[in-house]
Amino acid sequence: MKTYDVVVIGAGPGGLTAALYASRANLSVMILDRGIYGGQMNNTAAIENYPGFDSILGPDLSEKMYKSSTQFGADFGYGAVESVEDKGDVKVIHTDDGDYETKVLIIATGSQYKKIGVPGEEELSGRGVSYCAVCDGAFFKGQDVAVVGGGDSAVEEGIYLTQLAKSVTIIHRRDQLRAQKILQDRAFKNDKIKFVWNADVKEITSEDEKVSGVKYVDKKTGEEHVVPAKGAFIYVGIKPMTTPFKGLGVLDEDGWIKTDEHMATKVPGVFAVGDVRKKDLRQIATAVGEGGIAGQQAFNYIQELSDDKVSEH
Ligand code: NAP
Repeated sequence: MKTYDVVVIGAGPGGLTAALYASRANLSVMILDRGIYGGQMNNTAAIENYPGFDSILGPDLSEKMYKSSTQFGADFGYGAVESVEDKGDVKVIHTDDGDYETKVLIIATGSQYKKIGVPGEEELSGRGVSYCAVCDGAFFKGQDVAVVGGGDSAVEEGIYLTQLAKSVTIIHRRDQLRAQKILQDRAFKNDKIKFVWNADVKEITSEDEKVSGVKYVDKKTGEEHVVPAKGAFIYVGIKPMTTPFKGLGVLDEDGWIKTDEHMATKVPGVFAVGDVRKKDLRQIATAVGEGGIAGQQAFNYIQELSDDKVSEH
């Protein structure tokens, strides 16, 4: 079993920053991820709201953060975490590639995109249904695409898709977007973007086993329509990636992790940062701030553990 002071699970901006702070405080740190570092930043084209950069590509910011976070000796390794055992002063992390023992666990596993759950969505995934415009947008050069959703992701990714697609139709279930005002203004000004309001999406339609459109019912008139589209990008919200942590008793009823202002959960030695936390503002900037706090708190917690041991003797 490999032993560390701190194991960070998840290498998005929150996890990477936690590792930077903890390793700079001279703790031994392992960052585990089941994929490449960067998390959802890798699925984002232009990041415009992270200070210091007018605009930066998501994968480029991932690379920069990874370099910073490993410069003081933090290890980075592959591991899909299956479960965690709380043994008091140590936590044992079981992954598909071996076990780790740690004094502090920092959970930074983030969230994943939700599905709408309509016919065609699952079957046509990879055949025109996508949850990542940056990854799949290029397949739809010069074609009509649809985006389902009305939040920041739907509008931001819709705007991104206009660089590639002939037209982008944003299909939303209400008559008002949830997205930030700046994104809304940009989308309303973009000639390539059309909107369908009050739409209850019923099906992703297909032709020759590929997406041909999005079928919806107009909630006001009750009429059924199809938006013809070769690509259907689904952005209807997110859910936490917390299944391995169910046994720790730190999840709320929807699976998000509750922490205090020090990013501490109710289990001593277990912290959480970034999108996986129950909170209002899920941003790279907030994840980074929380990572800094958790990294420093990891140091404080370990100091207290060793102080307690000294006073016991
Ligand atoms: P979100 O803010 O939860 O928005 C989800 C959208 O999908 C809402 O408009 C919602 O409609 C709609 N929706 C939900 N369930 C649906 C269903 N079953 N069928 C059809 N539509 C449905 O999710 P998000 O846009 O993925 O954003 C997630 C988080 O990341 C947010 O905190 C967001 O601010 C953040 N984010 C920030 C940026 C940025 O700052 N640039 C970029 C991307 C994401 P209603 O509006 O009616 O609820």
